[in-house]
Amino acid sequence: MTTAELAQRIMDRQRGERLALHNRPWQPSATPATSLGYACERRIVYQRCWSDKASPIGDELASIFEEGNLHQRDVRQEMARLGWEVVESEVNFRDDRLEITGTIDGKIEVPDETARKGFRRVPLEIKSTAASAPVDEAAWRNSESSLLRRYYAQLQIYLYLTSEPDGLALFKSKQTGLWVVVAVSLDYEYVEGLLRRAERVRDAVARIKAAGVDEAARVAQLPDRLADRSECDGCPFRDTICHPAEAAVDPLLLAEDPELAAQLDERAELDADATRYDKLDKRIKARFQLTSGDRFVVGSRWLVSKRKHGNDIRIKIQRLASGEAEAA
Ligand code: SF4
Repeated sequence: MTTAELAQRIMDRQRGERLALHNRPWQPSATPATSLGYACERRIVYQRCWSDKASPIGDELASIFEEGNLHQRDVRQEMARLGWEVVESEVNFRDDRLEITGTIDGKIEVPDETARKGFRRVPLEIKSTAASAPVDEAAWRNSESSLLRRYYAQLQIYLYLTSEPDGLALFKSKQTGLWVVVAVSLDYEYVEGLLRRAERVRDAVARIKAAGVDEAARVAQLPDRLADRSECDGCPFRDTICHPAEAAVDPLLLAEDPELAAQLDERAELDADATRYDKLDKRIKARFQLTSGDRFVVGSRWLVSKRKHGNDIRIKIQRLASGEAEAA
């Protein structure tokens, strides 16, 4: 074997092994707490009932998952060296009524004179991140990153189901290894929204099971697709069974969507080079790329049109003069 062949073999072996570790078929018997952070309930139900239709993950994503496990181990060891041993690691929790399941990374013991045993155990969730970690709970909860918002939902659900008043999230930077630790308090109002989502998912899953083998009857029980398509990018069901770009959409839902109209207004006010413009432009165009149809009027003042250009879809956004909305 040449040295070049050896190099290739080492890389192939690592990729193959990481992929095998994280690419097993997975059909959850309950809704994972992290999934409750998805706004798209259809996606959660697909995972519960059509998990075999999820696109397989690639070696990069599998490797990212594995790195997360390695960072976790590393954080636990460093925490212990610093004097806080992580106990009750990887303890599962489950709520049978709402069909929610999950795992908390652990707890750390801290002295507490008011507690009967003289100490209390604070739940700890460990995450590694390549992006900036949130500076505090408010920033975390309202983060632009849907992944971070899902982590927040996961910890809140855990606190609620285990009757813990508060907990900690530790974000380890993948670049520097430094930690940002955020204290989180149980927020009943926020959790209520997640519990209602869990109920709707549970009920949809029950109806789908009751439909037996009649596929059309099963599909009819699915929650609607997410109107703003904001979570479709990266959804493993997008190109296998959901196909949002081909689904019929009531034009009125777009025409009267105040958030979409506000995004178009804001985009028009921004400098075309600005970061915020870029984000809005991408979000708006991605939404229309995944919406069936080729001309849409929004908020009576915007005309959005789609045109195929080779393999691409071009989206054009024009402001309508007053009175033009009806004609469009
Ligand atoms: S593709 Fe979009 S609408 Fe369909 S399940 Fe996924 S996130 Fe929801």
